[in-house]
Amino acid sequence: MEGTKSKDSKDKLDSVIYSYATDVNAVEEENRLLRETIDSLKQEINKFRRTPLMVSEVMELLEDQAIIKIPNGNSFMVDISNDCGKLVSGDQVLVEQKNLTIIKKINKTKKFSVEKFVIIEKPNVPWKLVGGLHQQIEDIKEVIELPLIKPELFKKIGIDPPKGILLYGEPGTGKTLLAKAVATATKSTFIEVVGSELVQKFIGEGAKLVKEIFELAREKAPTIIFIDEIDALAATRIEIGTSGEREVQRTFMQLLAEIDGFKRLDNVKIIGCTNRRDILDPAIIRPGRLDRLIKVGLPDKVGRKEIFKIHSMRMTLDPKINIDTLVEKMEEFSGAMIHAVCTEAGYYAIRSNRTKIIFSDFLNAIKRVKEEEELEGEDFMHMFG
Ligand code: ADP
Repeated sequence: MEGTKSKDSKDKLDSVIYSYATDVNAVEEENRLLRETIDSLKQEINKFRRTPLMVSEVMELLEDQAIIKIPNGNSFMVDISNDCGKLVSGDQVLVEQKNLTIIKKINKTKKFSVEKFVIIEKPNVPWKLVGGLHQQIEDIKEVIELPLIKPELFKKIGIDPPKGILLYGEPGTGKTLLAKAVATATKSTFIEVVGSELVQKFIGEGAKLVKEIFELAREKAPTIIFIDEIDALAATRIEIGTSGEREVQRTFMQLLAEIDGFKRLDNVKIIGCTNRRDILDPAIIRPGRLDRLIKVGLPDKVGRKEIFKIHSMRMTLDPKINIDTLVEKMEEFSGAMIHAVCTEAGYYAIRSNRTKIIFSDFLNAIKRVKEEEELEGEDFMHMFG
């Protein structure tokens, strides 16, 4: 009896002490958690307060200083922090924004993958998909296709084919199409670069990118390098003031150096393309560079009919459609606009629940494409006030 009683009270005591201990622990635990939260929040806040370090490139090492190039292309002589470790020129480093002192080296791969920045493809555009432009096709076959397919012929005869050509004319007239067609005919790799992107997107890297594009072209030869909007790089500049202009100039100089650097019979060819032949720096079209100029203008009636047939080839047309009348209505239309007319006509048929495209679908489409073109033209004029 006695024993049972004492066991009961012991149990009670245990449970009391136990519950008391839990309370103390809980408060301490909560306290600890709060402290940890505050610490981690403080650390987070500090991250937001810290000024970012700038990524730069070491150009040259002097005794205890270095010359670095910051991303906008300017160079500075700066100090090196003691914790930085050993540097060599070409290293990527992090620098303080205020005094540009080198803080540490980063292990960023020096050679960036140029393949991420340009479009590389093996196009599949047979010559028969290019409407009109017969003279231009002949010229391109002669100066690009033949030297790539039969270089020995040129060696034997002893003449130098051009390293590249310049296609110029209104937008949407088939310049890119021609370049892709010649790449298809010669089974070449097609590297497409846009001049304006080269100077806007890759600030500070334009010249380097040009160099790597040519390296890649040689690796993947035979190659056609297609430079769209080449005027963005190669426009005549009256004065070179801002660092942006200097950057464009550097990229352009690198392009010229690359063109001059390879032999005419190397199996790399350049096709430059522009809508603004008038502002082009003559340096780019000097003999030995893109010295064959080929104008790609708006198609005439015969050309328009050929282009129309190419783009309506797979469409189900009402046999009563008079193609000649349509072609006449598309005076001053570019190839791209004719393509748009065919697509639009298809939509008009779909909207009317038809599977056959009738004459009025094309008439509506022509009207719409013309209106859109005029509207865009107007917007374009607004940009100039
Ligand atoms: P550009 O490079 O001159 O601005 P593109 O070659 O990019 O013009 O043409 C855009 C599209 O317009 C082409 O993909 C094609 O569908 C159509 N096109 C333009 N010209 C022609 C042409 N001569 N023959 C067939 N299609 C054409």
